Amino acid sequence: MSLSRKPNWLKTRPPSGREFAGIRRTLREHDLHTVCEEANCPNLGECWSGGASGDGGTATFMLMGDRCSRGCNFCDVETGGMEPLDEDEPANVASAIAEIGLDYVVLTSVDRDDLPDQGAGHFAETIREIKARHPGILVEVLIPDFQGEPELVRKIVDAEPDVIAHNIETVERLQFPVRDRRAGYERSLSVLEQVSAESGIHTKTSLMLGVGEHGHEIYQTLSDLREAAVDVVTLGQYLQPSRSHLDVERYVHPHEFETWRRVAEEELGFLYSASGPMVRSSYKAGELFVEAVLR
Ligand code: SF4
Ligand code: SF4
Repeated sequence: MSLSRKPNWLKTRPPSGREFAGIRRTLREHDLHTVCEEANCPNLGECWSGGASGDGGTATFMLMGDRCSRGCNFCDVETGGMEPLDEDEPANVASAIAEIGLDYVVLTSVDRDDLPDQGAGHFAETIREIKARHPGILVEVLIPDFQGEPELVRKIVDAEPDVIAHNIETVERLQFPVRDRRAGYERSLSVLEQVSAESGIHTKTSLMLGVGEHGHEIYQTLSDLREAAVDVVTLGQYLQPSRSHLDVERYVHPHEFETWRRVAEEELGFLYSASGPMVRSSYKAGELFVEAVLR
């Protein structure tokens, strides 16, 4: 089944303005890619222009290429044909971030199951380069599961980012067909649990709604995440990137998203939750983190 018409609450305006154009120019000069642009993210205008403070905003950089060793059924990234790592990328990303003047940066990557350390060392080096060149910046990383290997997760912890995110994506019953078969509910929980147990770094995860999950399963997932001491959860609407991807089962009403935000924050005790149709894992990440944690 495919839902043909999107409800009004999913319609957005394209980003514009001087700030947007300036950031885009700097990214081109450094030959860098953001998820914001590649995924045509509807929140781009809001995220790049920053918060009410008017400070620099949030952007999500994609590391280690644009091809993934996995193939999740909701994701538009190409599978296979992996390229060697660009050894200059950590320094290059750090220079661009310093030039743009972002306060908060999100780093994510494709999965690199093809590499001996699955890219954990490259990820850690990028965090260190950014922190060294731009003291005071807050760095959030959205990491793969590293096949559940604790020593690879520890490489990220040791680089001391401010937030470590890993997405569980959906409820336990739907892990497959939604995610690649190498991913899994217990594995994702264990990555998040390890970070919480071994460091004071804030942990974060994200769920897509609209892929066939039931209310009691969402509640169970949120409870399991709190049990694993996850601090922050985001919930957003799944949108089908193309007809060959997983179907959208339903469009979740904004009122339901608000209910889940309240459940997460008021009943289950998450530090904060961003929940809404257009929310993505890194949605206004800097603004929300500063409001909830640093003020
Ligand atoms: Fe996309 Fe991540 Fe799945 Fe790779 S592992 S296909 S980048 S969601
Ligand atoms: Fe970029 Fe994430 Fe914001 Fe989308 S939600 S514009 S990917 S920072």
